[in-house]
Order: sequence, then structure tokens, then C-alpha cells
Amino acid sequence: MVKLNHHYAKLSGGYLFQEVARKVAAFRDKHPEASLIDLIDLGIGDITSPLPPTIVQALESASREMGSRETFKGYPPSQGYLFLREAIVENDYKNLLISPDEVFISDGAKNDIANIQELFSIDNRIAVPNPTYPVYIDTNVMAGRTKLPLKNGGYGGVTYLACTEKNGFSPELPNRSCDLIYLCSPNNPTGTAMDRQTLQKWVNYARENKAIILFDGAYEAYIRSPDCPRSIYEIEGAHEVAIEFRSFSKTAGFTGLRCSYTIIPHALKITERGTIHSLHALWKRRHETKSNGVSYPVQKAAAAVYSKAGAHEVKKLIDSYLQGAMSLKNNLEKKQYKVVGGVDAPYLWLKAPGTLTSWQFFELLLEKAHIISTPGIGFGSAGEGYVRLSAFGHQLEEGALRLTRL
Ligand SMILES: *Cc1c(COP(=O)(O)O)cnc(C)c1O
Repeated sequence: MVKLNHHYAKLSGGYLFQEVARKVAAFRDKHPEASLIDLIDLGIGDITSPLPPTIVQALESASREMGSRETFKGYPPSQGYLFLREAIVENDYKNLLISPDEVFISDGAKNDIANIQELFSIDNRIAVPNPTYPVYIDTNVMAGRTKLPLKNGGYGGVTYLACTEKNGFSPELPNRSCDLIYLCSPNNPTGTAMDRQTLQKWVNYARENKAIILFDGAYEAYIRSPDCPRSIYEIEGAHEVAIEFRSFSKTAGFTGLRCSYTIIPHALKITERGTIHSLHALWKRRHETKSNGVSYPVQKAAAAVYSKAGAHEVKKLIDSYLQGAMSLKNNLEKKQYKVVGGVDAPYLWLKAPGTLTSWQFFELLLEKAHIISTPGIGFGSAGEGYVRLSAFGHQLEEGALRLTRL
């Protein structure tokens, strides 16, 4: 008789965004007079601006190539076309000692982050920031790397790295040894980025504990603080202990197009019982076996992000999201709200007034200001008492005005 993966039963119920959607729908039912326009959605975790013209052009012309016998392309190379891997290295990893052979093109950072665990034994101890992107934890729950759910929404057997007001929302080194460490900088949902010194501490910790850092740089293009590295490979010693995930999703509006990449340096090795294993070789084997890569037109579109015109258009796009985030933040701070993020990320992390919980503040914002937010508790227990506001939303000025009148 067929048997299910019983680890799925440990997953906590409704997915955060479905619960938010349900509450917004209920609000709409109750207030038919609150039209679509009246509700301001600052809960959105997706790009809202259309693709820049240079990228659309690249997509169109590559699609036409597929329709002609001379230029038709079948299966792409499983690691990705060299033209894209070279463009990535020349632009994103200049002087960081990464070669095109260390770049793996994929159709999403989310899947790569989930799939990378296949390379590691089930009894590795994981460390995860709290709050953070729920994918890190949930995929480990599915794989059976955690124990049972706890009362606070977390899982047994996981080392949670609390990011709180006290530590400036930056994960601190655990006082026990962990093997797989997830870091997200700039972090979703707090919008805070790690500085050079903090990242160096993590790299040193990983080297001392023979651990590996899984570094999620999905929001790297939003970093403006000079002291916050865009890549973990800017940190000395990182090549031997870190895997980096990046995506064109938030950097160039590819959430619907799908293209990302993962860096696994050749220097990343694990020694077990006297044998040296290359994680690069293992991932290459996995990639070749389980994926046929990303379509040619999409890879051409991704390469256009690095063209002169493409880079300019993409930067303008990100600047506009960041400008919205900054003005929202300035307005909130004027009214004594406690808020972080929004400088190096499209997200603001807003503290609820008084003793309100995340969901209570969410409801208050919805009922009294007609603003949709994302309850912080959905990203981990340390997110209680916060909501995430997103600069991907529209009408940020009006949203700020309503928040300050609350
Ligand atoms: C949006 C996001 C990603 C991107 O995933 P894709 O599958 O490439 O779209 C990865 N990590 C974090 C933290 C994100 O917010």
C-alpha cells in the first residue's frame, strides 16, 4: 500500500497570504462601498511594474529565433547558456573570483533554495533567521529535517536566530554548533541588510564549525548602504563555506518570466572519512539529472538586464521602488512609528503600537485605514507585533497619509 510523506502533516495550516486574502475578501463583503481603488495594497510581495522595454525586446527577438530553422534551439545546456553565465560573472562578480563554471542558471531561487538540501544528510542541524522567508523552514519540514511543531508556530530541532529590535534585526551567532545556516540579506520581511563585519562573523563561524551558509541575495539589487555587501563572496573565506542564491525576480521584474542563478564555488568542499567531496560536482550532477534548464528566450531576456540600456532601465525601476519605500518610511517616522527597512530593500518592518499583535494591527490597518499589510507573525514567532509593508504597492503617499492619521 502506498504511504504518504508524513512530514507534510507537521506543516502549519493556512499559508499566510491565503489567510490575508481571505480576510481582505471578508472585509470587501462587509463594506461594498470600499471600492477597489480605496483599498491600498501594501501587502504585496511581487513586482508590480511591467518589464523594461530592452528586456521585452530581447525576449521578442529570441522568440523569433526559435521560429527559424537557422537559429532554432532545442534543449539548453543544463547549467545555462555561457553568454548568460559570462554576463553574470562580468557584472555581478567582478573581482570576486567567481568563474562562469561556478554559476548555475535555474528557473527560480525558491526551487534552488528548496532543492539544495538534497545534497545534505537529513541529520544536519539547521539555523534559520526569525522572522524570514518561510521557504527555508517549510522545505526542511517537508524533508523531515525538523521535529514536531511547537506552540509558538516554530518547529522542534531548529535553531532560530531571532532578529529583534535589540539586535538591530540582525541574526546573531548561535551558542551551539549548526551545520546549515540560512541567511537572507536584505532580509524578507524586515528589509534590513547585514553589514560587512556581521557577515564576516558568520563566515568565520561557518569555517570554525565546518558549516555551510546558504545565502539568499534575492534583494541584492536594492542595497544602497555602502557598508552592506551585495555578495557573500565579498567576505574573506566565504568561497569555502557559502552557496549564494540570486534571482532576476525582484531585481528585474522576472517573477512571471522565471530566471535565477545559484553560485557554488569549486572551493566548497566537504571532507568525510578522508574523502573530499565537491558540492559543485554534486549539484551539477543533480541539475543535469533533474532539470532541462531555462528556455532560450528567457535566458536572452536575463542577459539583456546586463546590457547598457537594460541595466539603466532596471536601475530606474528599483530606484522608484526604493524612493517609495523611503518616503513611506520618512512619513511614518515623523509620526513616531517604529519602522526599519526600506533603505536597502522594498520592505518596511513596522512595529504595532502598544501591545497589539500582528493580526490585530493588520485588522486595524484594514478596518480604519483601508490598508492591506502582511502580519509579521507569518514570517516567524519573532515577527509578532509587526507588519510588513511593501513598496511594490501603489499609492504609497496616500497610504502614508492614512497611516499618519490613524
Ligand atoms: C522573492 C524571493 C525569492 C525569489 O524567488 P524566485 O523563485 O526566484 O522568484 C527568493 N528569496 C526571497 C527571500 C524572496 O523574497
